[in-house]
Amino acid sequence: ESLGPTITVGEILVEIMASTTGFGFKEPQTLIGPFPSGAPAIFIDQVARLGGAAGIIATVGADDFGAVNIERLRQDGVDTSAISISPDRPTGSAFVRYRDDGTRDFIFNIMHSAAGAISLTPPAETLIAKAGHVHVMGSAFAIPGAAGVIDAAIRSVRSRGGSVSFDPNVRKELLGSGNFRSQFETMIQNADLLLPSGEELFVAAGTDGEAEAVKVLKARGVGEIVLKRGRQGATFFGASGARYDFHGFEVDEVDPTGAGDAFGATYLTSRRQGLGPEVSLERAAAAGAYNVTRRGPMTGLPDTVQLDFFLSTNPRRAA
Ligand code: ATP
Ligand code: MG
Repeated sequence: ESLGPTITVGEILVEIMASTTGFGFKEPQTLIGPFPSGAPAIFIDQVARLGGAAGIIATVGADDFGAVNIERLRQDGVDTSAISISPDRPTGSAFVRYRDDGTRDFIFNIMHSAAGAISLTPPAETLIAKAGHVHVMGSAFAIPGAAGVIDAAIRSVRSRGGSVSFDPNVRKELLGSGNFRSQFETMIQNADLLLPSGEELFVAAGTDGEAEAVKVLKARGVGEIVLKRGRQGATFFGASGARYDFHGFEVDEVDPTGAGDAFGATYLTSRRQGLGPEVSLERAAAAGAYNVTRRGPMTGLPDTVQLDFFLSTNPRRAA
């Protein structure tokens, strides 16, 4: 579609990573960072790297962590005009340490950082007024002001015939804050495209069993569902009952954070560029796989040339 940029609303963070695996942060250890991060920021950066028009509504602090993020987004072609700079709060952060089994512990500083200060500023209104698609990350609902901005963006984009996507993506550490249940319901009512990962499919549907959950969500009006399955690839469920399974690429996983965002952005951007669901699914899986081979959530966001090269040189996993 040529309806205007893909936009998103939510947290911009720096990510600071433990350099060894283990449980959390209860002893001194070597950390690496800051890496530009925040699920909405990773997503929108990937859209821009693939040549899609892209913008983000977010807030950073007047500090180096904010500058690291704005610089990366701007370099990759994201419209940063609706990123506010808070005069009195520092840029948000996420400390992450991987456990041996691949699960992660996070310490977030979002709500009380600049990231938690989102509102409908004049630059945000200007960006919304020209947008053609709104992508929402579940994690954004941890920010009190985000829901109102998201609601305004969805209404505006809808009034021009644009579309909406939703990735329920929310970490266990954030579930205690915000009214996720009712926000997620609203998003499911609104989403043309839903991008759950693992268990999120059942949480979104309020039911168990993959086929049953897909049926429930379709009945609620979700057009396309693309289920992410980590190293096992992903599945597309279409409105007409169509289904495609992609079993994934064989890669060495270095850092899994950001894969889901790279995947979602690549799927959406491919669809908006006019590609069909099956091709878009494979491109998205390639972006996800490419992402996990590099340390830092935005380090491994492929541009179109890198994505095409990856697709032509990497083996697919057998069913
Ligand atoms: P995140 O952890 O960033 O929230 P997610 O849980 O939303 O991610 P994943 O399923 O982990 O999403 O990853 C998205 C996609 O990236 C997968 O569907 C898959 O296609 C690809 N991918 C992720 N991890 C790997 C891997 N180790 N090897 C190959 N492909 C991968
Ligand atoms: Mg994951």
